[in-house]
Amino acid sequence: MITLALSKGRIFEETLPLLAAAGITVGEDPEKSRKLILPTNQPDVRIVMVRASDVPTYVEHGGADLGVAGRDVLLEHAAGGVGASSGLYQPLDLKIARCRLSVAVREDFDYASAVRQGSRIRVASKYVHLARQHFADKGVHVDLIKLYGSMELAPLTGLADAIVDLVSTGGTLRANHLREVEKIMDVSSRLVVNAAALKLQREPIRRLIEAFASALPQD
Ligand code: ATP
Ligand code: MG
Repeated sequence: MITLALSKGRIFEETLPLLAAAGITVGEDPEKSRKLILPTNQPDVRIVMVRASDVPTYVEHGGADLGVAGRDVLLEHAAGGVGASSGLYQPLDLKIARCRLSVAVREDFDYASAVRQGSRIRVASKYVHLARQHFADKGVHVDLIKLYGSMELAPLTGLADAIVDLVSTGGTLRANHLREVEKIMDVSSRLVVNAAALKLQREPIRRLIEAFASALPQD
C-alpha cells in the first residue's frame, strides 16, 4: 500500500492531473466528503487528507509515504527543527500552487525609512522561522508575532507593522490597503518522499515519481 498525503483546496486540485498521468483517479471529492482517507482506482494507492502544514510531518514520520507540500511549508518545517528533516526526500518540483513569500505593510507605513533608521519592526506571520531568517540576513531588528491565519488583519489593527505572507495576484493585499515591499522567495509545491518508504517500495514509488515528472509542463 502506498499512502499519499495531500491538503484540501489548490494542492489537491492541482495534484489530480498529475495522479491521472500515473493512471490514478480519486473517487471522492474531499470538499464534499468527511472521509480523511480516500481510496483510489488502484487498490494499493490511497490518499490521506491533512492540513497543508502537517504534510511534512506525516511524510517524515511515515504516516504517509509521499506528500505534496509548498516550499514555504517545507522550509518553515525544516527551520522549525523539531528533529532534522533528513528522512524527507524532495525529488520533484511539481510547479503547482505557485506564489511568492513576501513582506507587506500598510499603504501608509514607510518601510524603507524604518529599515534605513534601524527601527525595530513588528512582524506578524505564520512563517516565523522564515521571517526571522530573512530579517536577520538583512540586519533588520524585528519582533515576531506568530499567527495562524488572516495575516492581513495584523497591520490594520496595529498588531504589527508588517506581515510575511504568501502573495499570488496581490488582490487580497490591495483589498486590505496593504502594499508588497519585498519578495523573500518564489514558492511552488514539491513532491516529498519518506526515505525509508523509498527503500522498501522503491519500484512503485519510482514509477509514481516518473509519471508525475512526465506530466509536468516543460519549461
Ligand atoms: P492551512 O489551512 O493548514 O492553514 P493553507 O491555508 O496554507 O492551509 P492553502 O491555502 O491551500 O492552505 O495553501 C497550501 C499551499 O499552497 C501553501 O503552502 C502555498 O505553497 C500554496 N499557496 C497558498 N496560497 C496560494 C495562492 N494564493 N496562490 C498559489 N499558491 C498558494
Ligand atoms: Mg490559505
